[in-house]
Amino acid sequence: MKAWMIAILLWLICARGFAAGVDKSPSSTESVDAILPQMEALYIDLHQHPELSFHEQRTAAAMADGLRKLGFDVATGVGKVGVVGVLKNGAGPTVMLRTELDALPVKEQTGLAYASQVTTHNDAGAEVPVAHACGHDLHMSAWMGTATLLSQARDQWRGTLVLIGQPAEETVGGASSMIADGLYTRFPKPDYVIAIHDESELPAGKVGYTPGYSHANVNSVDITIYGKGGHGAMPQTTVDPIVIAARTVLALQTIVSREVGPGDPAVITVGSIHGGTKHNIIPDSVHLQLTVRSYKPETRKHLLAAIERIAKAESEAGGAPKPPLVEFSDASDSVYNDPKLTERVAAVLRKRLGNDKVVEMPPKMVAEDFSEYGRAGVPSVMFFVGAVNPAKYEAARASGTRLPSLHSSQFAPDVRPTLQTAIEAETAVMLDLLRKP
Ligand SMILES: [Zn+2]
Ligand SMILES: [Zn+2]
Repeated sequence: MKAWMIAILLWLICARGFAAGVDKSPSSTESVDAILPQMEALYIDLHQHPELSFHEQRTAAAMADGLRKLGFDVATGVGKVGVVGVLKNGAGPTVMLRTELDALPVKEQTGLAYASQVTTHNDAGAEVPVAHACGHDLHMSAWMGTATLLSQARDQWRGTLVLIGQPAEETVGGASSMIADGLYTRFPKPDYVIAIHDESELPAGKVGYTPGYSHANVNSVDITIYGKGGHGAMPQTTVDPIVIAARTVLALQTIVSREVGPGDPAVITVGSIHGGTKHNIIPDSVHLQLTVRSYKPETRKHLLAAIERIAKAESEAGGAPKPPLVEFSDASDSVYNDPKLTERVAAVLRKRLGNDKVVEMPPKMVAEDFSEYGRAGVPSVMFFVGAVNPAKYEAARASGTRLPSLHSSQFAPDVRPTLQTAIEAETAVMLDLLRKP
């Protein structure tokens, strides 16, 4: 018997006991305590078996099996590897709760006894280490805990619960592939979509929320600048693309500082610049790679147009033999947390966890394809669950040192309190949205 099967069996036995016994709210600390050991066991199992984006077969099977045992109707292979579980419980709203399934090509260096030792081959065929360095294993365990509590307390809510396990969040593409595969047409279309993310800037026990834009629009841009190569001692016979590239990099910085309003966040980073092979040879071309971030669609449009304009104009100013090649790729859209729904969620969290445990957080410039669920026309909210050991958090604040961020080889959540809060928070929010009339 596989370890995850044992974990599922254990928590089923435990959840039955809970249902037959005390009459408590499913989101109460006592209810969560009753299933926490089983969810921790699931967490450890998932943590030790991370899988890369669109290769989450074992993970998806574990999630599908767990939901089936709780009485959900389960579909697999949605958007390649995705899982959709539906639990109908009378007339009422339809609410979707999303978790991600994938891990990252990172070598875990947390020193934990249960640290990932996994290596695999990526899509390019190279051998890479794999770890849940973003905490998606924690999201899955909380999601299964919430599913367990809600499935055992069907007398306390009405409506339809849709739980989805999304592949490939890290490479961005899993959400859109599930939607393209009929997430909103083959299954009950949700009235609300909820997700959590663990947070490396908050202590365990606290939760955070961001109304409106919370994650950025992201675009990758490749610029190839053409010159005319030759001898480094005879620049007069060449057009030096390295000098044109240097001027282009500096001019690009004026887009954010001079063309975008100071209150409208935007980033243009030239993360890679390659040209030439040797001290005394002027090359024929230089290649730049940029990441471009924004929140508003009109700002994104302006940034991309300005990059192209400046790249072309600098090449022309430098006498380039032909215009640069400017290529746009890897687009993902900003997450917009529906402000009304966010306020409702925050009010539930304050009531459940206490005012001092719920904080408003500034938006981030990272990407998150949770945006797709909202863009498809459904009010959606992602909120954040503190994952840092509270003592370590205080010590880091006092000494001014930085804690490992998400995606770091050193990052791992403080499992028990993070999972406890995540399940309490998720269950409370779902119960409110699925309130009995
Ligand atoms: Zn991530
Ligand atoms: Zn993540």
